[in-house]
Amino acid sequence: MPEFSPTDMPDFPADDGFDPDAYGDSYEYSDGGVPDGGPSAPGPGIGQGHNPAQDAPAFETPLDVLRAVFGFDAFIGRQADVVEHVSGGGDALVLMPTGGGKSVCYQIPAILRPGVGIVVSPLIALMQDQVQGLRQMGVRAAALHSGLAAQEAFAVQRAMREGRLDLLYVAPERLCRPDFLDLLASLPLALFAIDEAHCVSQWGHDFRPEYLQLAVLHERFPQVPRLALTATADGPTRKDIIRNLRLEGALEFATGFDRPNIRYHVLSKDGGRNMLLRFVKERHAGDAGIVYRMSRRKVEETAAWLCKEGVEALPYHAGLPAEQRARNQDRFMREEGLVMVATIAFGMGVDKPNVRFVAHLDPPKSLEAYHQETGRAGRDGLPADAWMTYGLQDVAALSAMLENGGGDDERRRVEQLKLRRLLDFCETASCRRQALLGYFGEDRHEPCGNCDNCLNPPETFDGTVAAQKALSNIYRTGQYFGATHLAHVLTGKRTDKVLERGHEDVSTFGIGAELDVDGWKSVYRQLAAAGLLTVDFERHGALRLNDRSWTVLRGETDVRLRKDPVQPKRRAKATSSKIRDNEILNTSEAVRLWEALRARRLELAREQAVPPYAILADRSLLDMVRLRPRSVPEMGNIHGVGEVKLRRFGQTFLDVLNGHEAAEGRAAVVAGLESAVVESAAAGGSHGPRGSVSAKKLSKTAAESARLLLELGTAAAVAEARGLTEPTIWNHLLSAVESGTLEARTAAGLPAASYDCVAETIRVFEDEGYTFLSVVFEALDRAVDYGLLRCVRLGLENEAG
Ligand code: ADP
Ligand code: ZN
Repeated sequence: MPEFSPTDMPDFPADDGFDPDAYGDSYEYSDGGVPDGGPSAPGPGIGQGHNPAQDAPAFETPLDVLRAVFGFDAFIGRQADVVEHVSGGGDALVLMPTGGGKSVCYQIPAILRPGVGIVVSPLIALMQDQVQGLRQMGVRAAALHSGLAAQEAFAVQRAMREGRLDLLYVAPERLCRPDFLDLLASLPLALFAIDEAHCVSQWGHDFRPEYLQLAVLHERFPQVPRLALTATADGPTRKDIIRNLRLEGALEFATGFDRPNIRYHVLSKDGGRNMLLRFVKERHAGDAGIVYRMSRRKVEETAAWLCKEGVEALPYHAGLPAEQRARNQDRFMREEGLVMVATIAFGMGVDKPNVRFVAHLDPPKSLEAYHQETGRAGRDGLPADAWMTYGLQDVAALSAMLENGGGDDERRRVEQLKLRRLLDFCETASCRRQALLGYFGEDRHEPCGNCDNCLNPPETFDGTVAAQKALSNIYRTGQYFGATHLAHVLTGKRTDKVLERGHEDVSTFGIGAELDVDGWKSVYRQLAAAGLLTVDFERHGALRLNDRSWTVLRGETDVRLRKDPVQPKRRAKATSSKIRDNEILNTSEAVRLWEALRARRLELAREQAVPPYAILADRSLLDMVRLRPRSVPEMGNIHGVGEVKLRRFGQTFLDVLNGHEAAEGRAAVVAGLESAVVESAAAGGSHGPRGSVSAKKLSKTAAESARLLLELGTAAAVAEARGLTEPTIWNHLLSAVESGTLEARTAAGLPAASYDCVAETIRVFEDEGYTFLSVVFEALDRAVDYGLLRCVRLGLENEAG
């Protein structure tokens, strides 16, 4: 029976902003445009040369700014084109998926061009986030919105008048006030950037009437370049943006909808909550994630349940008091590793870059919604998961919502169509990414290799006969029962209900021996999803025949079905290892360093009352684990460490690295760093190539461990003999195996039978699509150390060539 009930209403996006006070930013405006950061705070910010008092460097090119201010090596996607076009005074429409790097597109031209860049943003939380991030890099940014006290707002305006700002974030209603427009008219302006530009379209659910007033910018400031930026760019929305913002002359820069770092999984629901728990504990222990649910009641239940099961989770829906919503969002942004359980009300203001998974415990309404919601994972470009479970009840609930949803026939028809496409996506046996991108009109993609169906292709079979059996069973039993009972009848189970209804006497009783109960339930779900039968929501999910069912029964329609992969039913253990499926955090030693770096980052973030990612991105910390910088210039080579951040934070993170090295020794894999730095210096810049630095040549210390292994037999014995930790020795041995100095089997130091057993376990899980060693670790009851597991895996890879 569906869990959905009329009192359990689906949620809608909250249409209000967020309480600025609850965001906790004390909002000090210091003259340099940078919040007080203690002795390491830089002097005047970075910016263009219109302020004669400042001694900031003058930048020649956009790439200089990207490297020196943002600490990135190179532009990505179409950033370079946009920046060049806008810096030269052109208008632009920028359509890039979430995480595509839109901000840089206007921030760099604003820094390079004389005058202040005005950025229109719909939510205070978004503005504050951007401003905090920019100030950490030494860019003179501020925001002006209704949450500021009069004197704070006054200070910002004064700074603007005095030419002390590179970027000003402002809400559309304030921007369009006549007095503010007059103020702008009296100043040099670098550009206007209209962020989340889809808010100008009546089509989407993010429509903001205030955005329509922005057309005035074109009339009042025809000579100032304007950019509109959005991640939502279906045809009608794009047309609205161009028309309503008067951007007819703008160049369009689009980079497609693909989010290659997101791995898609859709599973048939079988105890959804426990499946979720297992997923979170096995793959995302300690990570930040979002769990979407359809109703407020389910949000609260699921959040409470996760907490009880040891996963720290918070609820978020439009029915919570504004203050609690803001507090929960704020915690999600500022703390590490929280799970937010939410309705779709949790949306636009969320730009936390290191959300590692988005899980749908109830399916979204359409593929647009799915793309947008899953898009909140992995904005930082690091691997992330989009995970969904769904079942027959969800098909029923969604169909019922549409039927009762009101609206005219045309609208309902469109929504039906969208639902059909979503269900097709859920049931497809081929690449999910192809299906998703195909929906957005991108059909040039190859199978991605990074979705459940690519990694673990499901079997399909000609299901025409099975479908006929299943449908005639519905007919014979009176079109009155749900899938479980129907499956019992087909498989000949004499349950109480079967006997009570006399269903052991119908002609379809026991004719379905080729599948088990779960198999038939899956057939019913797939038929419902394909619209080949109807789920009667009013009658508690009873299955009924429809016109299309008869085409199957008459043999006019062929049916192709998939076999759902078998899911392990084991409950997740209370805790699981945090070793990740990650090139860098693949030893416990590396994980310890990572945790230490994260802890220092959190301290700094708390001191300055900003979210941790405003200090440094996860990618930057991972880069430190990978490259192990030992000096300030080496630190300058880390992703995301520009000149100002280097000055402010370089030493403090070096201290963490040094402390770690003193305690645990230097990991063998970093042998290439020094040469990378030398190379980049020779190339004439401090930002040289940062390719992989895995040891090509065996370091002396690794060679010594390898030699001792041959003598002593096991990593543990070597560790003891050398007075180093076991993980360090494993690092040595692995690099020896990698360099071909040592056989994996020798390094493992196991009897052949045990080695083969471990190898087989790894292989079985890999065949099932699990590339995480933590799964193998658990499966072997944690008896086999990670170093050893990695060694055996490396052996398998070497054998495979
Ligand atoms: P969007 O607004 O399109 O969702 P952002 O501007 O927030 O994306 O950027 C997404 C992430 O990519 C951020 O973490 C940002 O620091 C990073 N990023 C942007 N440009 C680059 C670049 N050229 N090189 C490396 N990382 C980048
Ligand atoms: Zn795929």
